[in-house]
Amino acid sequence: MPVTLRPDLAGLTPYDPDMRPARVVLTANENNYGLPADVRAEIGARLAQVELNRYPEATSPDLRRALGQMWGVPARDVVVGNGGDEIIFNVLLAFGGPGRALVNMPPTFSAYALYAQLTQTPVVSVARTPGYDVDEDAVVEAARTAGVVVICSPNNPTGNVTTPAFVERLAQAAPDALIMVDEAYGEFANPATSCVPLVATRDNVCVLRTLSKAFALAGARVGYLIAPPAVADGMLAVRLPYSVNRLSQAAAQVVVERRAEVARVTEKIRAERARLAGLLGDVAAGLAARGAGDGLLMYPSQANFLLVRLTRDGAPDAARAHELHELLAADGILVRDFSGTPGCEGGLRISVGRPAEDDELVGALRAHLGLDR
Ligand code: PMP
Repeated sequence: MPVTLRPDLAGLTPYDPDMRPARVVLTANENNYGLPADVRAEIGARLAQVELNRYPEATSPDLRRALGQMWGVPARDVVVGNGGDEIIFNVLLAFGGPGRALVNMPPTFSAYALYAQLTQTPVVSVARTPGYDVDEDAVVEAARTAGVVVICSPNNPTGNVTTPAFVERLAQAAPDALIMVDEAYGEFANPATSCVPLVATRDNVCVLRTLSKAFALAGARVGYLIAPPAVADGMLAVRLPYSVNRLSQAAAQVVVERRAEVARVTEKIRAERARLAGLLGDVAAGLAARGAGDGLLMYPSQANFLLVRLTRDGAPDAARAHELHELLAADGILVRDFSGTPGCEGGLRISVGRPAEDDELVGALRAHLGLDR
C-alpha cells in the first residue's frame, strides 16, 4: 500500500501566493516602504548579538511584555506566533475541531477555510452583502451554535471594517463561541474601529495582529493574539514551543520599541492609499466617459490595498480582469488576481506601493484599457 494523504485532505494543493518575480510587487499587501534606515540598522546590530546556539525562550516572555506594554494589556494576555497564520491555525486547533464549526464570511482571507479543513473544523459560510458588509443578523444566528467566528477587519480583500459595536453584540449573543477579530491591517484603519478594547470586557473576544504589514516584518514571521486569560492559556497549550525563533523575536522587539518611527511610515502609506484611490478613480471616470460599456468599480479601503472590479455593461468581467492581470504581470507589475473568486468576480487587489510603483501600475493599466490614446 502506498502512503496516502488523509482521505479528507485528498486533492489539497499547496497554498499558492502567486509570487512570480516582478519589478513592481503589489500582490501580497507587504510594506513596500520598508523600515527607516536607522531602525533597520538597529535590527542588524541586535541580530548580531543573538545566541543562536540556544533555543528561544519557549513562550517569548520579553516580546510578549513589549507587545503588552504597547497595548496597555498584561503580557499574559498576549500570545505570539510564527506569523498571524500560525495564530489562525492554532485558534482553530484549540477552539474549533470536529463538531465546533467556524463561521466564515466570504469573500475574505482564504486561510480561515483552509485551516478549518486541516483541523477538521466544519465551516458555516455567511456571505457578505454585495457591498461587503457582514450580514450581521445571519452571523449572530450562525454563531449561536458555532465554536469559532472569525471576522476580518479591515477585510482582506475588500478593505472595509466591521464595527466594534457589532462584535460586542455578537459576543453577547453567542457566549459559547470564540470571536476572533483579524486586525492584520489594523494600523492602516481608523483606530476607533479596533476591537482590542473589547478583549478586556468580553471573555470570548480575541484580536489578531501582525508585524508583517505596517511593521514591515513579513519575512520575519511574527504575529500575535491579544486574548482573555483562558483563551491565551488554550493558545499556549497547543502552540509549538519554539515557533518564533530568536532572530525574529529580536527583530520584533526592535520594531515595537521604535514604533513611533514605524508609525510615520504607516502615515505615508495611508496618504499614498488616498492618492492611488484618486488615480484609480480617474481610470474609472475615463472608462465611464468613453461610454464603450466597460467600467471599473472601486471600494473604499481602510487597509494597505484597494480592491477594484472590472465590469462590462454593468456586470463583472472576470475574463477581462484576468487578462489585465496577465498583461500587467508581463509588464513586470504583479497585483493579485481575484477575478474568479466568488463575490469578487472581475476583481484585482492592488497593494499600496511607493508612489513611483503606483504611478507605473496606473500608467500600465491606462494603456491596457486604451485610455490616454
Ligand atoms: N490575516 C490577514 C487578513 C492577512 O491578509 C494575512 C496575510 N496575508 C494574515 C492574517 C497573516 O499574516 P502573517 O502570517 O504574515 O502575519
